[in-house]
Amino acid sequence: MKNICTIRQQTDPILRIPSHSIPGITLEIKELIMDMFIVLKFTKGIGLAANQIGHSEALCIINAPEQIPMVLINPKITWYSSETCIMGEGCLSCKKIYKNIRRPNAIRIKYRDLNYQEHTKKLTGILARIAQHEIDHLNGKLIIDYK
Ligand code: ZN
Repeated sequence: MKNICTIRQQTDPILRIPSHSIPGITLEIKELIMDMFIVLKFTKGIGLAANQIGHSEALCIINAPEQIPMVLINPKITWYSSETCIMGEGCLSCKKIYKNIRRPNAIRIKYRDLNYQEHTKKLTGILARIAQHEIDHLNGKLIIDYK
């Protein structure tokens, strides 16, 4: 069995390389998504970007309590609310670090789903927070970069 449960840690160069967009859904991409949900379950996380397990595709997943799980392929933030709030954030790649970060309360994202269909969705609350954290990962940014 392949070792999918190694979460890349903050000094790993792959976490700093901007992800490349996915041109279409393949069996490999579907397997990667399944692996990511397994890792998230094992680690009790609420969001995971592909580069955290060593893949540079622009793909992240969200699985937060009381929310429908989301798969975001090639996600882009197209709008930020002017209202912001501060919330404490942890990261599976930055162990023992918990940081208060100010981010917009709401965002609008454009992304593709498992069928490569494009969607635009407004996210608020915890989903907006997690999506911004995961899209940071896809751009090579970590919570330790925030002041
Ligand atoms: Zn993270």
